[in-house]
Amino acid sequence: PSPSPASAVLRPRRVTRRLQVGGVAVGGDAPVSVQSMTTTVTADVGATLQQIAELTAAGCEIVRVAVPSQDDADALPQIARKSTIPVIADIHFQPRYVFAAIDAGCAAVRVNPGNIRAFDDKVGEIARAAGAAGIPIRIGVNAGSLDRRLLAKYGSATPEALAESALWECSLFEEHGFADLKVSVKHHDPLTMIAAYRVLAASCDYPLHLGVTEAGPAFQGTVKSATAFGILLAEGIGDTIRVSLSAPPVEEVRVGTQILQSLGLRPRRLEIVSCPSCGRAQVDVYRLTDQVAAAFDGFPLPLRVAVMGCVVNGPGEAREADLGVASGNGKGQIFVRGRVVATVPESKIIEALIEEATRLAEQADAG
Ligand code: SF4
Repeated sequence: PSPSPASAVLRPRRVTRRLQVGGVAVGGDAPVSVQSMTTTVTADVGATLQQIAELTAAGCEIVRVAVPSQDDADALPQIARKSTIPVIADIHFQPRYVFAAIDAGCAAVRVNPGNIRAFDDKVGEIARAAGAAGIPIRIGVNAGSLDRRLLAKYGSATPEALAESALWECSLFEEHGFADLKVSVKHHDPLTMIAAYRVLAASCDYPLHLGVTEAGPAFQGTVKSATAFGILLAEGIGDTIRVSLSAPPVEEVRVGTQILQSLGLRPRRLEIVSCPSCGRAQVDVYRLTDQVAAAFDGFPLPLRVAVMGCVVNGPGEAREADLGVASGNGKGQIFVRGRVVATVPESKIIEALIEEATRLAEQADAG
C-alpha cells in the first residue's frame, strides 16, 4: 500500500491568522516552515552570512540572529540585505535594538514586551514602528524566563503558566492595536511543552512557533523534538518549527525538515529505505547505507532508494522503492521498482545505483 496522505492521518490544521515574515508566509494555510538560529557573533557579518548560507542550503527558510550588543545591532542592515532568507532579530530588554532591527530591514523581531516594559516602557512605540514597517513580532515564552508573578501563582512553569504568560505578553501589544504576532511557549520537557501549546492553541488564533527548548545533545534533542512536534502537528497545531540542539544549527534544519517530511507536510527528496541488518546480511549494511546517502545527497529527482543486506528478501521487501540494492556473495543485485536489472561486484554498487537513478531521471524528464 502507498503511504497514507497527510490529510488522512493528521487533523485539519488549526485556523490561524497569516503573517508575512519577509517572503515567507507563516500561519493560515502556508506550509509549516523550518527555522534555525545562527551561533556566530552577529557582529561578525562575514561569519554570520556564511552560516546563514549554509543553513539556507540545508533548507532553512527563516533564520534568527541574536542581538545582545550595539555592535550586533550595527551589523543588522548588512545581514538583512545580503541574506537570501528572512532574518529575525532576537532581542531581550533593549528597545533601541528593536528599533535598529526594524530600521535595518529585518523581517521580524523576537522580543517579549514584558521585558521591555520592565526595562524601559517603549512597547507602544515598538508596536507603532513594527506596524509602520509591516513586520511581525514573535513573543517567545520559555520556562526559564517565566514572569515571577506567574511562577508565584502556579508554583512552577506549568503549561497553564506558560500559556497565560504568553497571552499576557500578547495583550501588551494588543492594547496598542498591534496583533501581528506569533507565539512560542517552550519547555525542555516535551509533555509540558505539548500541553502548553494545546492551551495556547485553544485560546488564540496567533500562528504558533513550535520548539522544545534546551532539548539537549543531537540524539536526545532530535527525539524530544520529533515526539513533541509530531504530536502537535498531528493535531493541526504549529505553523513554524525550530528544533533546538546542542549541535551545529545545520543539524537542526535537517531534523526539522525530516520531521515535516515524515508527516507528509513537505515533499521528500531522498528517502533511504534500509534494512536493520540481521544474521543473514552479507554486507556491512550500515556502511553501504551511509555511502548511498552520501552519493544521493542533492540528487535532482525525488527518490526512494532501498539498501538491503541480503538477496533473500531484499527486492521483495523494498518493492515500493524506486531503486535499490540487495547484497549477497560479494555482489549487489541492483533492482528498479522491485525488478532485478543487474548484478554487480560490491565495489561497483554505488556506481550502478547512480547509473540507474540517472536513467530514471532522464525518463522522468522525457515523460
Ligand atoms: Fe536481514 Fe536480509 Fe532483511 Fe536485511 S534484508 S534485515 S539482511 S533478512
